[in-house]
Amino acid sequence: MGSVAVQETLNPFEIAQAQFNTAAEHLKLEAWLRDVLRRPKRQLIVSIPTKMDNGTIRVFEGYRVQHSLARGPAKGGIRYHPNVTLDEVKALASWMTWKCATVNIPYGGGKGGVVCNPKEMSQRELEGMTRRYASEISIIIGPERDIPAPDVYTNAQTMAWIMDTYSMTVGSTQLGVVTGKPLQIGGSQGRNEATARGVLFVTREACVEKKIPIKGARVAVQGFGNAGSIAARLLSEDGATILAVSDSGGGITNPRGLDIRAVLAHKEKTGMLRGYPEAEPISNEKLLELECDVLVPAALENQITQENAPRIRAKIVAEAANGPTTPAADEILHKKGVFLIPDILANAGGVTVSYFEWVQSLQSFFWEEAQVNQHLEKVMTRAFREVLAIAKKFDVHMRTAAYILAVGRVAEATRIRGIYP
Ligand code: NAD
Repeated sequence: MGSVAVQETLNPFEIAQAQFNTAAEHLKLEAWLRDVLRRPKRQLIVSIPTKMDNGTIRVFEGYRVQHSLARGPAKGGIRYHPNVTLDEVKALASWMTWKCATVNIPYGGGKGGVVCNPKEMSQRELEGMTRRYASEISIIIGPERDIPAPDVYTNAQTMAWIMDTYSMTVGSTQLGVVTGKPLQIGGSQGRNEATARGVLFVTREACVEKKIPIKGARVAVQGFGNAGSIAARLLSEDGATILAVSDSGGGITNPRGLDIRAVLAHKEKTGMLRGYPEAEPISNEKLLELECDVLVPAALENQITQENAPRIRAKIVAEAANGPTTPAADEILHKKGVFLIPDILANAGGVTVSYFEWVQSLQSFFWEEAQVNQHLEKVMTRAFREVLAIAKKFDVHMRTAAYILAVGRVAEATRIRGIYP
């Protein structure tokens, strides 16, 4: 064994601050702006008493954090997971600020979370908890203030409950209070696939940069939910070979390529990936280390760290998940020549189509899917090229380049607006 490096922090908020600091240095940002932008503007902690099916009442803890409102209302998903912490939500909220600025849509950043295990809760319990959480955070959310969306283990149904609860509170239907809604109540065509489609658009661009034909490119995807499963399907429709996919129960691999539609049908039927007949099992750890052209982390934070980064053999890493790579791992991958498309760029397709959905909801005028996808492609490829140009100009990796672009935009907005009073 070689010498052991200094233990790196896995606290997502400390990581987010370190990423911000790097960009602030490059931009030579004024001290006061660093102080303002480093911390969230507003943090709300709520208790959520919920009637459980067995007649007891359980109190869950929930959060809603607004990091910056300088460029527009806060925007960001809501996560239900047993490991949610306030620091994680603060990190995710700040990443939303930088993400919206990277793709230049007029939002600030926010995020919410509830500490719970939705896999162990009935639909009725989830509805009760969601409605009470929505009611508790209704004092800071709203179509012009802060607009939630789905994240890990929340979905269109969750958004429908929040929209309905908020609408009941204010006395009229408010389509613009959440995005990622079902189509029947103001959702947008293409929103369900948007995060993955955005990953596809930037992966295509990265493949051009790295001179890897997407047709036949070998891809591994960690996480098989909204972001991961649809990214696997879209990439395979583009001609890529999907070598392996995984979910929280472990992964499956087939060096000749997986039939993603058949895998989706298997997961739909059995609730898990394991047991799919045309593949061998593979652990989440081993999947990350497969030799491949494109690795798509699409699960949770801190998957690629200084410990396993030396063993990553992908040529391109496209971060569908938020925060899957630590700063120390970033440096290791960069030195190895791995081309990493950072989360705040790679997965910005979700919030971009959320923005389109919000615009449609506020106008009650709805677009066709082709129009949504066309606008999304324009936003994602423009952002990719802007970030790449900065990476070349400053001689930095793509994450720092994206932060330089984003922090610069938010700093400029904050400077122009000035400090109140
Ligand atoms: P999801 O709930 O639809 O799916 C999560 C997936 O991750 C599931 O397949 C689950 O089994 C898997 N998973 C959980 N723990 C895992 C583990 N330890 N190892 C491997 N897999 C594990 O969630 P999602 O919306 O697809 O979100 C996934 C990631 O993408 C998150 O980081 C989220 O913040 C990010 N993201 C999502 C969106 C969106 O629009 N849904 C947008 C931007 C970013």
